Amino acid sequence: MTAKGMGDRLAKRVKLKDAHIITRMADMAEKLGDVIKLGRGDPDLDTPAHIIKAGQDALANGATHYTHPLGIPALREAIAKNILAYGGTDYASDEIVVTPGGQHAMFVIGLSLLDPGDEIIVPCPGYEPYSQAADLAGATVVPVKMTMETNFTLTADMVREAITPKSKILVLINPNNPTGTVTPPDEVKKIAQLAIEHDLIVISDEIYARLTYGNSTVQPVAALPGMKERTITLSGFSKAYAMTGWRVGYFAGPKELIVPMAEINHAFAISTAAVSQHAALAAMQGDQQCVEDMRRIYDERRRTLCKGLDELSIPYAECQGAFYVYADVSVTGLPASKFCERLLAEGQVMIYPGRIYGDHTDDFVRMSLTQPVPRIKEALVRMKKTIETIRSE
Ligand code: PLP
Repeated sequence: MTAKGMGDRLAKRVKLKDAHIITRMADMAEKLGDVIKLGRGDPDLDTPAHIIKAGQDALANGATHYTHPLGIPALREAIAKNILAYGGTDYASDEIVVTPGGQHAMFVIGLSLLDPGDEIIVPCPGYEPYSQAADLAGATVVPVKMTMETNFTLTADMVREAITPKSKILVLINPNNPTGTVTPPDEVKKIAQLAIEHDLIVISDEIYARLTYGNSTVQPVAALPGMKERTITLSGFSKAYAMTGWRVGYFAGPKELIVPMAEINHAFAISTAAVSQHAALAAMQGDQQCVEDMRRIYDERRRTLCKGLDELSIPYAECQGAFYVYADVSVTGLPASKFCERLLAEGQVMIYPGRIYGDHTDDFVRMSLTQPVPRIKEALVRMKKTIETIRSE
């Protein structure tokens, strides 16, 4: 049998989205020299030294085996303490499951909670793997479309419109990726009220909650009255501690859901890498100043990038959290996806089109704050040049 036609053999549930744009751009970047990478949400900052050291020590001390399926108990206890310390609810350690990254948790959640025909409400633009997990489960994705007019802020009114008798899950991503916007605490409270009224499970993705700017703060959903029993809190170490490569995340929720979900997680992963769990434990137990130091670095980069975009007359959503600036490049005269390809090919700057985050327009790009200030300034210079070339055509 030849490989020809093998694509037809893919299961019908496999729906390929625009990921090929990223692969194409990554291939192109490989061939170009000196690309300024503002694409992936992967911090350029190193994992803090005390965390690396804890990983090294753990390896030297035999952390080379499977662990408890829910994660090493000390880590789950430390996560519970940390959640509480940052305004979250009081989880017992057996209400927390450590996973190989938060993204893995999305698929455990989707496949554990969704049946074909169920509806899952997701912010749009938003983090696409939630929709992919729902697709795999055969559920129906109901996007809540946010726009620049309201700074891409999710409101209870928008959520209300999306609710039907088939709605089962509501996903909140706060701060949101790719828009960098924070849902204000008052709005989160109203949304929680809606979830109670309509008996919805809320997946609250708080992975960027400690990276907020200005006056923005994140209201942990599970801490609101009546919400712990219907909320799965999802988070991880990748963003706040610059630990993307270690692959550690977690989800937490009421025991009734967590016990069967932990079993599904065990079937997928057995357990999360022991070495990474020990490093994550050091992250939780160590001085939290490292998170604040990184937050300040992103904040400075954010201001640099926004100032540069102002100078180029490119509008953008106010970045209140995470490390992304979501900008409207329709002023260039090109669709955003084309602009990204031109900017990479001609300016050697990698940014991503908003379309890959479910944006129904092709006007926006996501720019990650994952390069130092001088590189961001250089990226702006290159962007200006590329725009001038496009306009002169
Ligand atoms: N949640 C959001 C909103 C994200 O943007 C990401 C990664 O970009 C994740 C979760 C998953 O991160 P990880 O799997 O590295 O924990």
